[in-house]
Amino acid sequence: MKIIKTRRNFIKDTSIVTGLGLVGSQHLSARSLINKPVAKKLGVALVGLGYYATHKIRPGLLETEFCELKGIVTGTKAKEGEWMEKYGVEKKNIYNYQNFDKIAENPDIDIVYIVLPNGMHSEYIIRAARAGKHVICEKPFDINAKRSAKAVDECHKLGKLLQIGYRCQYDPYHQEFMRIGKSKEMGDIKEIRSAHSFYGSKTGNWRYTNKALAGGGPLMDVGVYSIQAARYGSGEEPIAVSATCYNTNPKLMAGMEETIIFSMEFPSGAVASISSSYSARANFVEVSAEKGNYGLRPAFGYGGAQGFIGKDMMDFPVKNQQAVQMDAFARNILDGTPVLASGEEGLQDMKIVDALYKSAKKNGKRIKL
Ligand code: NDP
Repeated sequence: MKIIKTRRNFIKDTSIVTGLGLVGSQHLSARSLINKPVAKKLGVALVGLGYYATHKIRPGLLETEFCELKGIVTGTKAKEGEWMEKYGVEKKNIYNYQNFDKIAENPDIDIVYIVLPNGMHSEYIIRAARAGKHVICEKPFDINAKRSAKAVDECHKLGKLLQIGYRCQYDPYHQEFMRIGKSKEMGDIKEIRSAHSFYGSKTGNWRYTNKALAGGGPLMDVGVYSIQAARYGSGEEPIAVSATCYNTNPKLMAGMEETIIFSMEFPSGAVASISSSYSARANFVEVSAEKGNYGLRPAFGYGGAQGFIGKDMMDFPVKNQQAVQMDAFARNILDGTPVLASGEEGLQDMKIVDALYKSAKKNGKRIKL
């Protein structure tokens, strides 16, 4: 098996990302390549100090060039002391959900990073933008397209940048995966297969028990990565979808799927078949194109992807995805360039998610987008 080293230097700097031609993603101008020196790192306040904020974003911040942890917003009093002591957050930069809006008066904070349960995202995006801050919000955007669209509009109106935490879009392997699709190096894409599933702990976490906060099951949590990969892999937007949901534990996950299997049809005739489950283990995206197969396996984990084209392996530097994602956003703010994983990107996924749940309710009926 040959190791291929194509485009090894295509991310010489973490801020240089390619335009993808997706909804809301514009080709970056030459300005984005300038990388002017930064006088001061941008201050980030994390909102919701759960697993991802504590164990992935906080350490990721230490590897950024242009950002630093400056503030926190938490509803748990004990975390205030812990984050002051362990991570050096100053008392004047600590907020709770009630006094959060006062962050408007705090010049230390440039970016608010929302890491709350899904159903709280739009409310906090809007509050952060109204407080005059640029916003990163974790995926999924919210629990439906209507709420997400409101947050996109509000950020536009207020002139604040919004990034959805689609860390994979900033990863060299995913960018190569996009490039192959876009350049048609392997010919026209015929089929995309993807799965993103894990064995959910099925504890009392809001993901499994609270539909108002989760919005749904694994589709909301991890299935969105496969939707993303099918969209940026093909460079197309789906014209129709069809889905079926299954649930062997309806008592715990009331009104939510435990497993979803769905298809997406693209204008070129390419089809994506995708599954996502809390009762399986899978993590890949593969493409069958005219000249052969290529893909990423694993694709979406924190440990970095591995990629193949036919029998050859891709070889790119492994990046801290959270760090490159945040640095790219910082450069967008500093250079006035468009955001790659923009609010519109996240909104498009929510429209697809809405259509998938609509289809599942109608026993897999084909829903046009
Ligand atoms: P956790 O449950 O671990 O943390 C959520 C935090 O939100 C809590 O610790 C709490 O923080 C705060 N919170 C405020 N109100 C509530 C409420 N009513 N119920 C529960 N928590 C509340 O979730 P995760 O960190 O795993 O996920 C948070 C977000 O990040 C989700 O949207 C998820 O999809 C996304 N995520 C993204 C990943 C990625 O790879 N991009 C990976 C994992 C998650 P406090 O005590 O400080 O108030």
